Amino acid sequence: MKREHVINTDHLEELVACISCSVTDKACMYNECVSCKHKQFPFELHDCNAQTTWTQWKTVTEERNIKKTGEQSELKKVTVVMKEIQSGSIYDLMTEFEQQLQKFKAHYFNIRHQFGAYRQLRKDMKSNEALACRLCCQAIQCSV
Ligand SMILES: [Zn+2]
Repeated sequence: MKREHVINTDHLEELVACISCSVTDKACMYNECVSCKHKQFPFELHDCNAQTTWTQWKTVTEERNIKKTGEQSELKKVTVVMKEIQSGSIYDLMTEFEQQLQKFKAHYFNIRHQFGAYRQLRKDMKSNEALACRLCCQAIQCSV
């Protein structure tokens, strides 16, 4: 196994800072700032075409037969969060990672604003987006 050092940090704040002028500016964090809206993540690139796999969290709506005692079973829609193994080139992974990071920016800003402390942010880092982002980071760092 070879480690591809595509990104040099998995520190979320640093990652967010990489694609925004300021992590405390609301416009930047909400992708409304013209100067950093389309800012690309500075990947440390090697071979973009190398194949890799990574895990990703997906929210899916499934129909399930739920049986009730004494009644007929009924079809109910349930929302489940699933871990999905994705495979593709490092380039695909980077694209996905960038999208997650963009979404994460606003989320990051909200949490930061709400609690005002980074320590708190770490504790509250349980949302799917943050997790997906984190997994993405790890996948990039540990990809084969
Ligand atoms: Zn900006």
